[in-house]
Amino acid sequence: MTRFILLGAPGAGKGTQAKTLATLRHIPHISTGDILREAVSQGTPLGVKAQGYMDRGELVPDQLVIDLIRERLSRPDAHIGWILDGFPRNVTQATFLDELLTEIDQVYDHAINFEVPDDVLVQRMLGRGRKDDTEEVIRRRLQVYREQTAPLIDFYSSRNKLATINGNSSVEEVTATLEQLV
Ligand code: AMP
Repeated sequence: MTRFILLGAPGAGKGTQAKTLATLRHIPHISTGDILREAVSQGTPLGVKAQGYMDRGELVPDQLVIDLIRERLSRPDAHIGWILDGFPRNVTQATFLDELLTEIDQVYDHAINFEVPDDVLVQRMLGRGRKDDTEEVIRRRLQVYREQTAPLIDFYSSRNKLATINGNSSVEEVTATLEQLV
């Protein structure tokens, strides 16, 4: 059973690696960013509520992502494993996740933190051309990461659940390191 949480700043390469790993292991790749972007593009009530926060580089309110994760992890395909990408993003969400997993009788293996220097993160984000990848929004997203998401490194480390990998190398090299770890 493979269940991993991918941690790291925006632009750290979590999404790319999560897709590869999910395909190799035949398990769902659950990205709250992808789910929210889809909701925005379809104009669903969730998308309408989330869009402004996403455009500014802020986190959307916890309750929105908590509800969607509860629903997603309870689906049958998630019983065989999953890779979480972009959730949790703060201590409230991480605490919720631990409670939810206890409730639905699932256990995760590790939270894997991707380490990448700031200047590399900015270059990567500017290069991918997403709507929320303008310089101002990127700066805000990095600030939000440092203030709200980086504390999760201690959260998982204090539970002996943290693994760290160097995300500052080629996609293939990071995949190889990740495969050894999982
Ligand atoms: P990502 O694709 O993971 O970089 O997410 C894109 C945007 O979606 C973020 O900048 C947030 O606005 C929003 N988002 C994604 N995941 C979360 C989450 N777990 N909590 C709050 N906001 C999120």
